[in-house]
Amino acid sequence: MGKVTGFMEFERNDEGYAPVQSRLKNYKEFVIGLKVEEARTEGARCMDCGTPFCNNGCPVNNIIPDFNDLVYRDDWRNAIAVLHSTNNFPEFTGRICPAPCEAACVLNINNDPVGIKSIEHAIIDRAWAEGWVVPQVSSLKTGKKVAIVGSGPAGLAAAQQLARVGHDVTVFEKNDTVGGLLRYGIPDFKMDKSHIDLRAKQLQAEGVTFKTNVMVGELPKGSKVTNWAKASISPAQLQQDFDAVLLAGGSEQSRDLPVPGRDLDGIHFAMEFLPQQNKVNAGGKVKDQILATGKHVIVIGGGDTGSDCVGTSNRHGAASVTQFELLPRPPEEEDRPLTWPYWPIKLRTSSSHDEGCEREFAIATKEFLGEKGKVTGVKTVRIELKDGKITEVPGTEQVLKADLVLLAMGFVNPVETILSGFGVDKDNRGNARASTDFIGGYSTSVDKVFAAGDMRRGQSLVVWAIREGRQAARAIDEYLTGSSVLPR
Ligand SMILES: Cc1cc2nc3c(=O)[nH]c(=O)nc-3n(C[C@H](O)[C@H](O)[C@H](O)COP(=O)(O)OP(=O)(O)OC[C@H]3O[C@@H](n4cnc5c(N)ncnc54)[C@H](O)[C@@H]3O)c2cc1C
Ligand code: SF4
Repeated sequence: MGKVTGFMEFERNDEGYAPVQSRLKNYKEFVIGLKVEEARTEGARCMDCGTPFCNNGCPVNNIIPDFNDLVYRDDWRNAIAVLHSTNNFPEFTGRICPAPCEAACVLNINNDPVGIKSIEHAIIDRAWAEGWVVPQVSSLKTGKKVAIVGSGPAGLAAAQQLARVGHDVTVFEKNDTVGGLLRYGIPDFKMDKSHIDLRAKQLQAEGVTFKTNVMVGELPKGSKVTNWAKASISPAQLQQDFDAVLLAGGSEQSRDLPVPGRDLDGIHFAMEFLPQQNKVNAGGKVKDQILATGKHVIVIGGGDTGSDCVGTSNRHGAASVTQFELLPRPPEEEDRPLTWPYWPIKLRTSSSHDEGCEREFAIATKEFLGEKGKVTGVKTVRIELKDGKITEVPGTEQVLKADLVLLAMGFVNPVETILSGFGVDKDNRGNARASTDFIGGYSTSVDKVFAAGDMRRGQSLVVWAIREGRQAARAIDEYLTGSSVLPR
């Protein structure tokens, strides 16, 4: 423990944000990371608890007290070594992880938790700037071939781990560039895509081959899932050509809202809207891009994806943005003795909300209204929980003006045709069935086919995808060679 009295001496120092007016003019990242000395002081606040709950709260089990201490002592090279020992891509999590570790920080019981995420962010940004992140090429070659379907954080983490123990890894991606939802989903203002490009280069130098614009199997007819594939390969071919296959294709089937008027023009899934802007930011062209410019926008869904639609709509120059959440407004502050060290339910106001947005809670959409085939409004009703059931509150119907409606109510499961193409069993939510057991984990019902990330666990977080990619890599390595030195 660096500074024994640090937690009593220093208050939490949060990362800064560029002012709203300037950041709304572009799609650039606007978080101002901690400077070296600020990160050292934040690290000094860590109490190096005997039982570090933060380490358990973090899905990749980052060894947080150790890197906090190393940063406090100004030993950044060892700090990045510790961080990389559990997390392949801290530049992703240091930017967009909701930081369940901080909810679990012991200091959070009666004080502000250590700014763990901001320290992680500072360590990895410094490591890249100093040139400390270099390819780790395996001197051993096993001659075993592994195919990975999907280049999101789960696929990339698995690819890196497998290449580092000498396997010959090929990643198939139906979109034009690697990254999964990090690339085409999460807006650039939350995470600049150059971070994925740097990692992709590192992975290639470590021996990973990327085959982009290649669809494995088929999407159902009329599917609205993002797909820029120019070629395809069948699941059977993949199973024949490779010694193991990892399914890491995410959970791409958006939840729909089948109320009257759903087929009007101007109603889109969030995942039709967000990837288009990312593509344009990357210099691509999108025919008939869905734009919020000058429109009254209603975002249905109160989570991260909805919040990203709010931020993107404001950057387009929307006339107004309103976000609906089905659940009642949560409390501003959690009851910490009741919730610690778990992730608490409380009002979460994102940077996108701060940029301008009306938030409506306990509201349901009854109907989309339109003229000449185009959406013009949304009929809503207030709801409440009565006798354990969601019930409409009589006399609360109203119509809100809307020229663009974005459906951001989450994802139900992976695209069915991809899983059935491989013939793998599904769980009762429609995800690829595979356990996370220490022995035999991540294997599906089909020999040599494994599954990880959102495709196995359902829609989740980047940090969980990284964990699953790492653990699946170990399971595949064991399957191919009988044992593994890869960590779980
Ligand atoms: C808009 C949005 C914002 C989010 N914000 C956050 C956030 O701030 N923080 C956070 O932690 N999480 C966030 N998430 C969740 C997070 O992005 C996902 O949990 C994570 O990316 C899942 O990783 P994955 O590797 O399992 O799958 P994905 O990232 O979904 O990647 C799957 C990849 O597989 C490809 N693929 C699928 N099928 C095939 C096929 N048959 N052939 C070839 N390629 C295929 C897809 O094109 C895709 O590129 C967000 C999600 C969305 C939609
Ligand atoms: S990956 Fe997320 S949970 Fe883990 S230490 Fe970083 S911010 Fe915390």
